[in-house]
Amino acid sequence: MMKFLENIIDTLKYKKLRALEMKRWLGILIYASVYFSIEAYASANNIEFYIWDTALTTSIIVLTIILGNFFCGWLCFMQRFQDAIGIVGRLILRSKYNNLINQKNRNKIKWIKYILAGVTILVPLVLSSYNVFIKFWGWAFSIGMIFTLVERRAYCKYFCFIGALFKLASIKNKKILIRNQSNCTACNLCSVVCPQDCDPAKKDGSISKDLWCTSCNRCKTVCPSNAIVKEKI
Ligand code: SF4
Ligand code: SF4
Ligand code: SF4
Repeated sequence: MMKFLENIIDTLKYKKLRALEMKRWLGILIYASVYFSIEAYASANNIEFYIWDTALTTSIIVLTIILGNFFCGWLCFMQRFQDAIGIVGRLILRSKYNNLINQKNRNKIKWIKYILAGVTILVPLVLSSYNVFIKFWGWAFSIGMIFTLVERRAYCKYFCFIGALFKLASIKNKKILIRNQSNCTACNLCSVVCPQDCDPAKKDGSISKDLWCTSCNRCKTVCPSNAIVKEKI
C-alpha cells in the first residue's frame, strides 16, 4: 500500500512527470478514437476484424521499425487497464503486491513473453487457423490480467505478444535511452518510477534495450541530474 501511495505522490510531486503523463493520456485518447473509428467503419462496411486489425498492427510494426517503440510508450490503453487492475491488487495484497518475484529472478525471465509470442503466432500460422490464434490470445490476455492482480503490468511483462513484436521491431532503432554513469548520483528515483520494473538505476549504459522497457520516458523525465539521456548510437 505504501508503495502505491509513493507512486501516486511521485507523479503528483514532479511537475515534469505530471506533464509527461498528461501527454501520454492524450496519445492514448487519440489512439483509442482512431481504433474505435476504424472498428465502426469496418463494421458498417462488413470488413472482417482479422483483416483490418492485421492491417493496423502491420502498419504500426512498420512505423515502429522507423520511429522506435512509440506505441507502447505513448498510445497503448492496455497499460492503463492494467494499472486500474493493479489498484485492486494493491488494495488486496498491500505490501505483498508486486513482490512475488524479486528483481533478480525477473531479470532472468524477461524473455518468456518472446517465446509465448512465437507460440501464439506460429502455431495458428502453421494450422492456418484464425480461431486458434484468437483462443491463444484470449488465454494470454486472461492469464495476464489475473496475474496483474499480483504483479504490476504483468500482461505487458509476461504475456503481451504484440508488445514483444513491437519491441523486436524497434531493436535496431538508433535512438536509445542511456544512463550516463558519470552524472548519476545513485538516488534510485528512476527505478522507483519505472512502471515496468526495468530498474534503470542499475543499468550500465543502454536502458531502452531492456526487454521490458516500453520507452515511456518516465525515468528520463524524473532524473534530477539529467543522467538519463536519449542518444543516437
Ligand atoms: S507490452 Fe503490450 S500491453 Fe504493454 S504497452 Fe506494449 S502493447 Fe501495450
Ligand atoms: S534518477 Fe538519475 S541520478 Fe538517480 S539513480 Fe536514476 S539515473 Fe541516477
Ligand atoms: S526504463 Fe524508463 S523508459 Fe523504460 S519503461 Fe522504465 S521508466 Fe519507462
